Amino acid sequence: MTAGSFKPLKLWNSWEGVKLAETLMLNELTIAEAKQKLLAKEISAVELVQACLKRMDAVDDKCRAFLSWNAEAALEQAAAADALPQSERANKPLLGLPIALKDNLAVKGEQLSCASKILENFVSPYDSTVAEKLKQSGAILMGRLNLDEFAMGSSTENSAFGATRNPWNIDRAPGGSSGGAAAAVSSNQCIAALGSDTGGSIRQPAAFCGCVGLKPSYGRVSRYGLVAFASSLDQIGPLTKTVADSAMLLQILAGRDPRDSTSVSEPVPNFASDLEDSVNFVRGLKIGLPKEYFVDGLNAEVQAAVEDAVRTFENLGAEILEVSLPHSEYAVAAYYLIATAEASANLARFEGIRYGLRVEGEDPFQLHSKTRGRGFGAEVKRRVLLGTYALSSGYYDAYYLRAQKTRTLIRQDFLDAFKKADLLLTPTTPTPAFLIGEKTSDPIQMYLSDIFTIPANLAGNCAISLPCGFARNPKLPIGLQLLGKSFGETALLKAAHAFEQSTEWKRHQPKIGRF
Ligand code: GLN
Repeated sequence: MTAGSFKPLKLWNSWEGVKLAETLMLNELTIAEAKQKLLAKEISAVELVQACLKRMDAVDDKCRAFLSWNAEAALEQAAAADALPQSERANKPLLGLPIALKDNLAVKGEQLSCASKILENFVSPYDSTVAEKLKQSGAILMGRLNLDEFAMGSSTENSAFGATRNPWNIDRAPGGSSGGAAAAVSSNQCIAALGSDTGGSIRQPAAFCGCVGLKPSYGRVSRYGLVAFASSLDQIGPLTKTVADSAMLLQILAGRDPRDSTSVSEPVPNFASDLEDSVNFVRGLKIGLPKEYFVDGLNAEVQAAVEDAVRTFENLGAEILEVSLPHSEYAVAAYYLIATAEASANLARFEGIRYGLRVEGEDPFQLHSKTRGRGFGAEVKRRVLLGTYALSSGYYDAYYLRAQKTRTLIRQDFLDAFKKADLLLTPTTPTPAFLIGEKTSDPIQMYLSDIFTIPANLAGNCAISLPCGFARNPKLPIGLQLLGKSFGETALLKAAHAFEQSTEWKRHQPKIGRF
């Protein structure tokens, strides 16, 4: 490791009297900052990757964001990025940038465990479209990030390989299911990450860990190579340190892919450059507050932070109005029928023959049930059982069909709200990060932590979570959710960017490894 690897860069000094980081290590840079320094040759990709690897070595035994990584391979990729001739650097907007992927996104030749024992030793034979796009853009894939098994959970405690810890307070959950991704980004172990969001799995962990998490509109990003949980709800999206980085990654990920028939050929705007006039954009913007989201039971500090965020938007010239999403109260129930029904079908492929674990039995039925019995964890089993029940003859109309009808009503609620408002604003989660173990014995309580994020998946529209403040004692980030129309990511990102520019929240760093 060269002495130049950890050049401290001077940055900010204080905010509201709170002493913040005085120096910025390379691994703490955003995509935009790192890119600029790489282009100016102030730093090399090898130095950047070394800084992330050093950080991983220092904090990941506490944080456990990564399931695995290969330092040598990452450094080789970095050296290759540094050596790339100028003529081949065009069209490589992420050249040399360390990005990590949730372990349900396929990367050729790498483990694809979904944090499940059933896929413990499974190596992906192909690249997901998102991995392919990142590679083509020059990114360096840093390792495999922890998640709730098959992305089923809200705390990353359902991982068969141990829970991830929240970098702000290691007694707390990082959220889930992309808890590894959010924790890795917020503890600066990588510059950015990709996760998946079926009911909030990008936004809720982003809120708990104090980073920016974007769920693109359904169909915006190809799901090819994402291990399917609930195919009509799943979307892949970025977890980043800033909104600009989110826009930059979405730019690369978005677009029609013939290998995913649900990806759409909607034109892909220039998200990144559209951010330039974001503060002007907010003037006159109509932001709706869904009244069903601001009810009793909302944590007081979350409520106060979100109200401050509303005032910030008002000061920026936005027009705030009340809207109603009257079927919100049915969203969690509808989600847990639809998601489990789809999961029961999607997970049928893990039967001991084609993929991963195989526990022999006397006949194929035994092989199948023993493999699944041993390979799946308790939450996955619960969901397969629930989903199979909801789809079974005699119950289908009462459960699955009603849930689908409810989904249509929820979608209609959003369409109606978006006739009045350009964007909606809500808290991302009802509380800041809860304690590890606090909700594991009560699945309903765990499911309710996604109450504000699930509706966007049911409706298919885009949504983003970004930091909007902190709870005190202990200091924990609070997330603001903005919701946009389907394929309305430009407006969503611009408003989020304007908010971020007008506040200092993104400048706070978690304590892990700093004491
Ligand atoms: N927490 C939700 C669930 O357990 C959402 C998960 C996700 O978005 N992948 O289903």
